[in-house]
Amino acid sequence: MAEQKDNALLLRAIAYSDSSLILHLLTSQHGRISLMARGARRIKSPFRAGLMPLYQLNIRWREPRTGSMGTLLEVQRLQSLLPDQLMLAGQELLAKASSLFPDGVGQGYDELFQAFNLLAGRPESSGTAAAIWSMIEASGWVGDFEHCWHCSENIDMAIPMFWLQAHLLCSTCSNQQGITLSSGCRKSIAAHMFQTNTRLQQAHIHIWNTMIHDAFKTHQMKT
Ligand SMILES: [Zn+2]
Repeated sequence: MAEQKDNALLLRAIAYSDSSLILHLLTSQHGRISLMARGARRIKSPFRAGLMPLYQLNIRWREPRTGSMGTLLEVQRLQSLLPDQLMLAGQELLAKASSLFPDGVGQGYDELFQAFNLLAGRPESSGTAAAIWSMIEASGWVGDFEHCWHCSENIDMAIPMFWLQAHLLCSTCSNQQGITLSSGCRKSIAAHMFQTNTRLQQAHIHIWNTMIHDAFKTHQMKT
């Protein structure tokens, strides 16, 4: 029963028995893991101070002899990932990351960490969209803003594109159906992924959220 140590992000903590917690974590080197934190809900538990969502954690655990659940031995809280006013948006990122990076998927830690950084530097409404978009992009659910996702043609930013069935399409492939992404909308969404100082119009945020919603809907139907 080897011991392991790694940096981790806490996705979920589920109450178990009278006093324990089952933790779902994304780790830097060990992918997603589940751990039993025995007695973690007791007032005097040494885990209580450390087990905070939306912080970077450093954990030490014992690997399971059988089955898939290890045992938490020690947790240290490192840096906070978000300012206080973005905690609710942060919870939404955790929920999305939990479904994007399920058990058995090796990635997730770096992607979620990057998503927190994107959110932290932007206004909440557009920052949440940028952060979720970066994670679904890393999952391969969506492509970039400069190519048609069907025919792969490079589309000049000055030309509008179309959002149809969870794909960003050129006017030929979409037959001009779906939601029109005007040149301005496409430019500002694409720029917002890289620049913190661009302000997105409400209408553009609304379209972006629709795109994210469609992407989740399409992929959850496939699984
Ligand atoms: Zn096309």
